[in-house]
Amino acid sequence: THELRVQAVSQVTDRKPQPPKMPQRLEALWATDVFTLSKMQASLPKEVFKSIKNTIQTGGKIDVSVAGAVAAAMKDWATSKGALYYAHVFYPMTNATAEKHDGFISVQGDGTVITEFTGKVLVQGEPDGSSFPNGGLRSTFEARGYTAWDVTSPAYVMETDNGVTLCIPTVFISWTGVALDKKTPLLRSNAAMNKAATRVLKLLGHTDVAPVNSSCGAEQEYFLVDAHFAHSRPDLLLAGRTLFGKPPAKGQQFDDHYFGAIPDRVQVFMQDVEEKMYKLGIPAKTRHNEVAPGQFEIAPFFEAANVASDHQQLTMTILKSTAKKHGFACLLHEKPFAGINGSGKHVNWSVGNATQGNLLDPGDTPHANMQFLLFCGAVIRGLHKYGPLLRAVVATASNDHRLGANEAPPAIISMYLGTQLEQVFNQISQGQPTSSAHAGVMELGVDTLPIFPKDPGDRNRTSPFAFTGNRFEFRAVGSGQSVSGPLVAMNTILADSLTWIGDALENEMAKGTELNAAVHTVLKEVMDKHGAVVFGGNGYCEEWHKMAVEERGLPNLRTTADALPVLKADYIEELFERVGVLTPVELESRFDVYAEQYILAIEVEAKLVVSIAKTMIYPAAMRYLSELSTAIANAKAIGIEMGKESAEKVAALIQPMLDNVSKLSEAMTKHDFAAPEEHMQYSAQIIRPLMDKVREYADALESEVADDFWPLPTYQEMLFVK
Ligand code: ADP
Ligand code: MG
Repeated sequence: THELRVQAVSQVTDRKPQPPKMPQRLEALWATDVFTLSKMQASLPKEVFKSIKNTIQTGGKIDVSVAGAVAAAMKDWATSKGALYYAHVFYPMTNATAEKHDGFISVQGDGTVITEFTGKVLVQGEPDGSSFPNGGLRSTFEARGYTAWDVTSPAYVMETDNGVTLCIPTVFISWTGVALDKKTPLLRSNAAMNKAATRVLKLLGHTDVAPVNSSCGAEQEYFLVDAHFAHSRPDLLLAGRTLFGKPPAKGQQFDDHYFGAIPDRVQVFMQDVEEKMYKLGIPAKTRHNEVAPGQFEIAPFFEAANVASDHQQLTMTILKSTAKKHGFACLLHEKPFAGINGSGKHVNWSVGNATQGNLLDPGDTPHANMQFLLFCGAVIRGLHKYGPLLRAVVATASNDHRLGANEAPPAIISMYLGTQLEQVFNQISQGQPTSSAHAGVMELGVDTLPIFPKDPGDRNRTSPFAFTGNRFEFRAVGSGQSVSGPLVAMNTILADSLTWIGDALENEMAKGTELNAAVHTVLKEVMDKHGAVVFGGNGYCEEWHKMAVEERGLPNLRTTADALPVLKADYIEELFERVGVLTPVELESRFDVYAEQYILAIEVEAKLVVSIAKTMIYPAAMRYLSELSTAIANAKAIGIEMGKESAEKVAALIQPMLDNVSKLSEAMTKHDFAAPEEHMQYSAQIIRPLMDKVREYADALESEVADDFWPLPTYQEMLFVK
């Protein structure tokens, strides 16, 4: 095994970057693999196109009678790109994407074949979904699950080395119409938010109000590790993170990787990824090195939330598959390496429409912008009232390593507004006249440099939920997660708050209060009841954690075991039912699925800890001990007394490691839990700490055992050899 390590290092050193392709012009790549509106326009009868466009752009009711014509055009386009198969793509309650492929082939009565794709199969599919986690929503005797065409997310062809497939984004529901996926609630939450937002805009006096949609731009962090190393680490292969490994002598303390020059091999990889994304109409925009060595980020230009969510899933798939081609493993795990930064996915979110624009745009004088203040106030109210929900939707076994670990946002959900806005909202709550402080201009003292306006607030990297100029940035989302859950939560709490605001405004105005005063009264109530969620200070420090909990009453739900049960709380159940996003049964099934995933993830890791400790680390340590003992005996034979301490030290680490392995194995045999809540707490409080104990001794052994005995690629090798 040590030979494997040495080989890996030399193979990695000898690797040549894949020959870079000359980047093509964007116009030549853009959306070539997407069945876009313009392709539809060119190939569909006018009336059909009008109807489809109406559904896509204004959320009009879908006219199923046009499906036949769309299917035929879609098939012609896809087959011209080389597709023989089509797939309904859906998004089950895991963070993965699922698809079932069917051929366009249709056998005729005379034995000949033609390609065929009817409206009926475009609109509805029936995969046997019984093996997808559904939290008891469908027992096997009612295993029917349907996929249904989502017209609002464009179809595309996926080209791989194995062929070309037409992919159709769909929702996944049970035969009784229960949502089994992540897309259905996202569409519902958007519709609910649209309704509530439209009402508020009308109360503000707008007569022309286009449908309101949510937007999302998700920044994706990831690690690249050479495949030679990843393949010789069972933990990376099966759990996506290292369960052992002592920190390298040099970590990220120099900050020399962050925004540094991108290594050649990585840049070629990134360009390959971006080319694939462009062809699929995914607007990749930003790329850079991240804080940790071996860590990078890619961010697209923001899009409508439903499309952005599908595109985000595709982005994760493309990152992983392209990495393989370039001899890398792409790690989307939130904490692949202990002791250095983990990976998140900042979900930038805003709401807007074609007539009023971005409803979270404060403009130059936010204090006078009633529309902005109401929408921002609605988010404040929602975040305070339902903060634990926001914590619950980012709760996974892997993300627990990141949240609250002094590098990522804390598990306490608070909101950063920036000094200017915080001041405006404080003035409102104190009933004072409002004004927007202006930051002035930035004079750099050098005539040749431009003068530019100062931003009204600095960035605050420590807040889990920050207002960043014209949108909110939810930063607690995990790098490996679907963005759908977080978007559903944000749209839902906004819909709820806007409904409350609509009611409150109507009440005030019914009393004869004029609009401006009514808005102020409503906002004052929001701030008085919910202002405690606004916090502009350092979210990492201990004082905040104490103050948040003790003085402000903001919950600190440290682990997934603490956070997930929120999904079962009455007020959350009522929220989702009232807003029309998830029924109590659908919500409960989500709790069941996520709880199970948490328990299983830790179980897999615990099994790996036991087997790696027993079959890789223990043998290496014993061989080394044996070699040491022989050397000590030999030395003694010629009268040299030495080496005993190091042998004793090794032995003193091996034994407790084994003891903890036994304790862990023993702990893992417990299976009689009254409820998933109890099982989750057991995993969090008993299993995880025992895994950490084993690791503590194993990592100490890594500092003692001769390097040429050590079986696992080291942190130094994985993070620095490229
Ligand atoms: P930073 O790292 O400074 O947060 P990035 O440029 O890496 O910024 O990412 C910002 C993300 O926010 C991008 O995906 C961008 O398209 C997105 N974004 C910008 N404006 C909006 C908006 N109004 N609504 C939603 N997302 C937005
Ligand atoms: Mg960001």
